[in-house]
Amino acid sequence: MLSTLEAKLLIVDDLPENLLALDVLIRGENRLIYKATSADEALVLLLQHDFALAILDVQMPGMNGFELAELMRGTEKTKHIPIVFVSAAGREMNYAFKGYESGAVDFMHKPLDIQAVKSKVTVFVDLYQQRQAIKHQVQALEKSRQEQETLLGELRTTQDELRLAVRMRDDFMSIVSHELRTPLNGLILETQLRKLHLAKGNADAFTLDKLRAMTDRDERQLNSLIRLIEDMLDVSRIRTGKLSIRPVPCDLAALAARVLENLGAQIAAAGSQVELIAPQPVPGVWDEYRIEQVVANLLTNALRYGAKKPIEIRVHADQGVARLEVRDQGIGISADDQQRIFQQFERVNCGHSVQGLGLGLFITKQIVDAHQGQIGVSSVPGEGSCFHVRLPQTMEKNS
Ligand code: ADP
Repeated sequence: MLSTLEAKLLIVDDLPENLLALDVLIRGENRLIYKATSADEALVLLLQHDFALAILDVQMPGMNGFELAELMRGTEKTKHIPIVFVSAAGREMNYAFKGYESGAVDFMHKPLDIQAVKSKVTVFVDLYQQRQAIKHQVQALEKSRQEQETLLGELRTTQDELRLAVRMRDDFMSIVSHELRTPLNGLILETQLRKLHLAKGNADAFTLDKLRAMTDRDERQLNSLIRLIEDMLDVSRIRTGKLSIRPVPCDLAALAARVLENLGAQIAAAGSQVELIAPQPVPGVWDEYRIEQVVANLLTNALRYGAKKPIEIRVHADQGVARLEVRDQGIGISADDQQRIFQQFERVNCGHSVQGLGLGLFITKQIVDAHQGQIGVSSVPGEGSCFHVRLPQTMEKNS
């Protein structure tokens, strides 16, 4: 690794034959030799390249070797390049250079001792290559440290997400068991009561009117069980991307009226007056069953959280977009909660005695999204909520 790092060497001498001789002497594998016949030429090369070593002739016309070295020491880019002076004068000249403190300096005297020159250059080249190798290792270490930090960050996020998922699953399981138990308890109690009457031969408990009321109660409990199971199935369909949409031509106004009719018993039980304002048919191409689910979910919520106050459903069309609004005057939703309620298992106002898995609005939004529509809510706590849905009357084919 070390010896494969290329080292550039600069030799400066006013006599071309000296340059040539030195070049031959110090040439070697992975060494690039640059030659300059004056200090000016050398300065240009020094600015263009990173040198492992500069060998400067001291006696040159114009700027001499010491002056060039002083200039090099004063420039950031060339400050640390080791310098070897070549001098024909005696050793007392060694002290004529002032810039020792900032970088390595050495001397060679003419006539040159071939072995001494070779080993000196080799030492400087090795030092340079070691420095470069360390620099690369430091850079590689820094890079891997940064990668580790990124990985650690990702791990922490995944850990947080997993913790949240586990918490949500646990919450969900406890809500599901509670929600399933409520209608099942109702059914089991009814069954036990009927068995008791049967055991006592109490035929009065099974008059036509009483049987009708019992059947209605059973139906309500069974319907709420079916709804819970349907919701859970829808969520797993959404998760696996299997919530399919089968669009057919239909009328949103007629569809809303039908939902109102189907939920007649629930509306009567909730005690809110529901008014449908749909003066004209609103035709579109949608999955009828799924859009009925949207209207039913929004209306059921308005009945649940509507504080028995009047509820208004508006259906109309505007520039190719069908609009549905479900407005209640109930408990309302705080601004913070408005952001959360369209997500899975998000229930707010849990202090109120209302049931639900926190899935209705999540499923509703997925259905609206699948129809390339939008859903939103505006609400003031204590004054009521208005859920608004926009559905393009015809869907774009390619999405
Ligand atoms: P849930 O089955 O719990 O009702 P939803 O997804 O339908 O689940 O609703 C999520 C939460 O949004 C509810 O728990 C409720 O707190 C709030 N919410 C939904 N509709 C209304 C509304 N019309 N008024 C007030 N709060 C509402």
